[in-house]
Amino acid sequence: MNRLEKIESEQESETAPAPVIDSLAPIRDMVSACIQCGTCTGSCPNAFAMDLTPRQLWYNVIRGEKETIFHSKTFSLCSVCYYCTLRCPRGLPLTDAMSALKQIAAKENLAPYKKSVRFYKSFMESVRRHGRVREMEFMTLYFMVMKNPLLPFRFAPLGMKLMSKGKVSVELPSKGSGTLEAIFRKVEELENS
Ligand code: SF4
Ligand code: SF4
Repeated sequence: MNRLEKIESEQESETAPAPVIDSLAPIRDMVSACIQCGTCTGSCPNAFAMDLTPRQLWYNVIRGEKETIFHSKTFSLCSVCYYCTLRCPRGLPLTDAMSALKQIAAKENLAPYKKSVRFYKSFMESVRRHGRVREMEFMTLYFMVMKNPLLPFRFAPLGMKLMSKGKVSVELPSKGSGTLEAIFRKVEELENS
């Protein structure tokens, strides 16, 4: 099974299991000293698009409200800029906590996050092949795993606009040099150990 097929099969099931409450415990420990000051929310460049502000998300994590947490798109919108981590007066590892929530959503194959997990995996597949993302290949991989023939049409106007400004590379998909393969394999090994 190649990696594209693996992405597809991992995401195949439409019925996602509920995340086990224990998986939240390490994240709760990360944010348990939160004093609800809201500095993280005020610092977050993506807070405007989140349904729960970062402060509200940590409140729900501390309370173990997994239903609320895993129906929110807040952590999936975190762009890992580290502003909140740098500014939190309690010095909490908030960006790591956001990433840990993303990992749970991906591992548990939760329905609300399937699209973003596929998007992320397609992006990483291109980076794995070439050491950087090739936009056209990345989107081709994404369209293939999404299996929606209409999807490319939705992205076409944006793609054309970016291409006209030279923001998108037009290199065709290829297997790449495989130079980073060993690093990616090692990371997978560590993540699964
Ligand atoms: S900045 Fe830190 S202490 Fe303040 S609300 Fe956010 S997580 Fe809590
Ligand atoms: S790391 Fe994520 S949550 Fe924190 S400020 Fe940046 S985008 Fe927002």
